[in-house]
Amino acid sequence: MHIVEMRSDSIERQNEDARLQALAAAEILDTEPESCFDAITRLAAEYFQADTVLLSFADESRVWVKSSWGESIREMPRHGSVFEMVIRDGAPVIVPDVSVEPRLTGKRMTLRRLEVASFAGVPVRAPGGEILGTLSIFGGLPRRRMAVDELHMLESLADMVSSQLELRRMRKVFTSKGPIAPQVDISAVGAWPTRSDLRHALDQRQFLLYYQPEVELATRKIIGLEALIRWVHPERGLVPPMDFIPMAEECGLILPIGDWGLEEACGQIQQWCADDLGYRSLRVCVNLSARQFAREGLADHVEALLRRFGISSRQLGLEMTESSLITDTNTAMEVLGSLRRLGVSLLMDDFGTGYSSLHHLHRYPFDVLKIDRSFVSRMTDGEQPLQIVKTIIELARALGMDVVAEGIETREQYTLLQELGCRYGQGYLFARPMSAEAVGELLRLPGRLLPEPAEAGQPC
Ligand code: C2E
Ligand code: MG
Ligand code: MG
Repeated sequence: MHIVEMRSDSIERQNEDARLQALAAAEILDTEPESCFDAITRLAAEYFQADTVLLSFADESRVWVKSSWGESIREMPRHGSVFEMVIRDGAPVIVPDVSVEPRLTGKRMTLRRLEVASFAGVPVRAPGGEILGTLSIFGGLPRRRMAVDELHMLESLADMVSSQLELRRMRKVFTSKGPIAPQVDISAVGAWPTRSDLRHALDQRQFLLYYQPEVELATRKIIGLEALIRWVHPERGLVPPMDFIPMAEECGLILPIGDWGLEEACGQIQQWCADDLGYRSLRVCVNLSARQFAREGLADHVEALLRRFGISSRQLGLEMTESSLITDTNTAMEVLGSLRRLGVSLLMDDFGTGYSSLHHLHRYPFDVLKIDRSFVSRMTDGEQPLQIVKTIIELARALGMDVVAEGIETREQYTLLQELGCRYGQGYLFARPMSAEAVGELLRLPGRLLPEPAEAGQPC
């Protein structure tokens, strides 16, 4: 008996050592609070209509609250705290009514001071499985028993915290080796293109829109198209947007170029609908950059275009990245609000690559979230990247948003995404970006159904 106890003691000690190491590696205790944590606690509070939500982490003696919603409390010391209970059980702890739970009566439970009738705490884990922290909700929902899907939602939110920690770690690795998404340093671009090159291209009508199909994954039906700009340069050939959009943004020409793109896409929608009224169910999405938001009257401009081309707002989608919203959040909020009222779809592009994705997701009225290609491509690398995609999908679902996975290149990614419940996707596996004429051919396929893609693991 004595030996068994000693063994279990030493196992606990080992687990605790591993946990503290993981905690130190995550650099969570002595860093500034992050807005994404606030977004998670707020989401949890809203979803569960909770009185208080805590995101906490603990070392051996005390609990560190990294974000709290509702009544302001400090959970310390560690012993007798929710954290302690979660770590002891290694699993969610759900207490529908504290007053009738014998092991919680008395002074052990610090949070009793709140006189909450109930709480639920779920673990936030490191990639190795060690418990780093807990996400706990008090009051609200658990006055009754928690349904299984509600527990899953709470666990997803806790996984989202893990994902954000993992994202932060990856960002560090990437920033030491190069950025996570290709970001162009204007100073490094060199002399080309100059402002006058771009001005000339605009005057000479050298820009062109390519279109890439967006499909419903279950059927491979084309449900929409993303318009992607190209520069048909007389000497350099087809120039990709990342080679000139940053410069266009820098020198302000992104505004006329962006206007051209919107108008061109609307004209194309009109033309497709003239060919076949069935195409009215297609949504054509146009990418917008930061500067286009900073400008007053974007919604009026879009409305005028819709009228002029006689197209419905459901036929147009506008994609923007988080970074384009950060520069002036109040204006972004106003502009997005008026676009939403107009009825056009708002898509958050490259989700996960920004610095506080969740914060923005929660704050702005997006109806579609596009999972960045970097996550899709890493999905098959292991449990953690897969978990990130899974939690993004679950979170979007809980927020009533559609999810589009970007950059699907292999059958394996395609199958996994479907298993995770992702409904829509785009990528080379289905179709590359192509000219309006070429995409017109695909639209004429019976039922707009794309054929079965190439075999598993073969990038197209
Ligand atoms: P984005 O909006 O995230 O567009 C998706 C990019 O991923 C496109 O690159 C597309 O060609 C590429 N892509 C799609 N499927 C796959 C795949 O399976 N594998 C790989 N490796 N790549 C895939 P593209 O056309 O070079 O555009 C790059 C970015 O340029 C776009 O990223 C968007 O942010 C920006 N952009 C494109 N057109 C416009 C525009 O008209 N205005 C503005 N402001 N930005 C634009
Ligand atoms: Mg896009
Ligand atoms: Mg994207």
